[in-house]
Amino acid sequence: MTTRKTALVTGSTSGIGLAVATAMAQAGMNVVLNGFGDPAAIESVRADLESNYGVTVLYHGADMSKPDEVRALCQKALDTFGAVDVLVNNAGIQHVSPIESFPEEKWDAILAVSLSSAFHTCKALVPGMREKGWGRIVNIGSIHSLVASANKAAYVATKFGLLGLTKVVALETAKDNITCNCVCPAYVDTPLVRNQIPGQAKTHGIPEEDVIEKIMLAPQPVKKLVAPADLAAFVLFLCSDAGQNITGAALPVDGGWTAQ
Ligand code: NAD
Repeated sequence: MTTRKTALVTGSTSGIGLAVATAMAQAGMNVVLNGFGDPAAIESVRADLESNYGVTVLYHGADMSKPDEVRALCQKALDTFGAVDVLVNNAGIQHVSPIESFPEEKWDAILAVSLSSAFHTCKALVPGMREKGWGRIVNIGSIHSLVASANKAAYVATKFGLLGLTKVVALETAKDNITCNCVCPAYVDTPLVRNQIPGQAKTHGIPEEDVIEKIMLAPQPVKKLVAPADLAAFVLFLCSDAGQNITGAALPVDGGWTAQ
């Protein structure tokens, strides 16, 4: 058993989750990685984090849309490290479509991966945090936890729901030195965003190279995508002792998008 803190980051084989997992390892925490991808590439990320930062890194391939697998992930983390001190609910998927043609199976999948999974991880891991009298939970919401966009019914419903779950967990755990917050980024430069470019170009009838500037950054005063490492540094701060009075909050990292 180790005295290092342990961070479990869902959906951490790519994008924001990988940046957060890296920041946690860099700060000296053991890390539980989760997510899909090429097994050799995932093993290489896992081994690199261990050798670069001298921490222990466990990978678990739970499908976050399946409650049994989510519970197995949490149990494996507890069995391996004795505790999970930091939980980052990050796994998420997107589908863009008008409401009339929004596929039912996409609605169900988005709610399962990005909302219900956070309920199951919190339920499984809050008891151990209470026992230790210390815990940090960060839910990766979105500006879509605060404002809507057309054609994203399931995503927006999920992200508003995640903010609601955040506030409830924050209230229930406040006496136990546990915080729970919802970070709300605008577009972050990750595969999830890059994969939307061809569809957005088609919808708006513009070249793919214009999508970031003319569509994604159009409503945002700061004309830059959020860098995954910047977001990870903010999440790491929330998970520090100094973050103890920040709880139940929706925290935009959005270049001023929701200030308008
Ligand atoms: P990404 O596609 O780069 O990474 C998503 C991660 O989730 C991957 O590791 C993937 O394997 C994993 N994942 C997907 N389905 C899974 C499942 N069923 N079980 C386990 N893991 C699964 O995406 P990203 O851009 O890094 O997004 C991460 C989170 O940040 C999401 O919740 C997303 O909604 C949120 N977010 C992203 C942006 C953005 O602009 N990229 C903005 C706001 C919020």
